[in-house]
Amino acid sequence: MSVDYQSLAVKGVQALSPYQPGKPIEELARELGLNPEEIIKLASNENPLGPSEKAMAAARKALEESCLYPDGNGFALKQALVNRFGVAMNQITLGNGSNDVLEVIARCFAGPESEVVFSQYAFAVYPLVTQAIGAKGVSVPAKDWGHDLDAMAEAVNARTKLIFVANPNNPTGTVHTADAIEAFLQRIPEHVLVVLDEAYCEFLTGEEYPDGIQLLERFPNLIVCRTFSKAWGLAAMRVGYSISSPEIADVLNRVRQPFNVNSVALAAAAAVLEDDAYLNRSREVNEAGLRQLAEGFDRIGLSFIPSVGNFIAVDVGEQSAAVYQALLARGVIVRPVAGYGMPNHLRVSVGLPDENERFLSALSEALTSAQEGR
Ligand SMILES: *Cc1c(COP(=O)(O)O)cnc(C)c1O
Repeated sequence: MSVDYQSLAVKGVQALSPYQPGKPIEELARELGLNPEEIIKLASNENPLGPSEKAMAAARKALEESCLYPDGNGFALKQALVNRFGVAMNQITLGNGSNDVLEVIARCFAGPESEVVFSQYAFAVYPLVTQAIGAKGVSVPAKDWGHDLDAMAEAVNARTKLIFVANPNNPTGTVHTADAIEAFLQRIPEHVLVVLDEAYCEFLTGEEYPDGIQLLERFPNLIVCRTFSKAWGLAAMRVGYSISSPEIADVLNRVRQPFNVNSVALAAAAAVLEDDAYLNRSREVNEAGLRQLAEGFDRIGLSFIPSVGNFIAVDVGEQSAAVYQALLARGVIVRPVAGYGMPNHLRVSVGLPDENERFLSALSEALTSAQEGR
């Protein structure tokens, strides 16, 4: 080959490493010759309840119309969001997962001359999209595993275009109160956009936590991103959205692909937004699961980062890669977070009670076998 085609890629992309997703069940089954039915995946913060029946009924109906293009404006889903959150239609931007929206935001508002601020240990997609567009990522050292909001505000300079704040954060499960987020927003100049990624906000209970949507009126530079992948149980459908000022939404809607959310996903998401029983069950199962996992870690004697999300990062020590492998051998998939600079932790998503129990007993065994080098 006379041309090195990789060298033709734009600079940011050349240095990029792809997002590392959780290992799929089928892949582990193939690799280790295990029965897929006996594998549990607690690796991608998916909803252990399975999807909402109401969402699935709507999806099946939409599937029958698959020869037609989706509604490129997503009217019915936007209407459902308007009904639920009291926002205006023209504040909403829909995405093929909120990852899509995060990328569109970066592409619209940052470029090679810009800086993008995010926290150490924050969601991996922020540095990834920043680098892909050739902007400079500024990773601000975390404080107690969470965002150091003061330091992030101080990192803003004349080149800063965007700040990503994950609240709660993934993979650490840390969260800031409404007061802290407001105090932070007050320190940010109006021409710097703040993306408040609330992928896990539906799991939050407690008055002290912010609802980004309520902050939009006072902070016109705010973009709130949410997803149907977690508490709403539709990760495979790939639907997320942002709510912002109409001016910002207009910009985002110019750049997003015209049919970025498919009809089946649009229908499922609109239906699940009206399924409060499903959401309540998600919350209950999650709260109980967080308790169960925390108690289990205490029993085993492991420290963990207290989490408000649907996952917990647990410190399994320097042998974490071996522990991960030993869990895989026992048919339990969790998520290594060494790529986040957390080499001693594994992130486990909250499962159903019996899944959590199976994970905890496999973890006890895995710790022993990793220690013995087996
Ligand atoms: C899971 C997650 C998302 C959402 O991803 P989707 O593309 O909507 O599935 C966004 N932000 C954070 C912090 C997440 O953990």
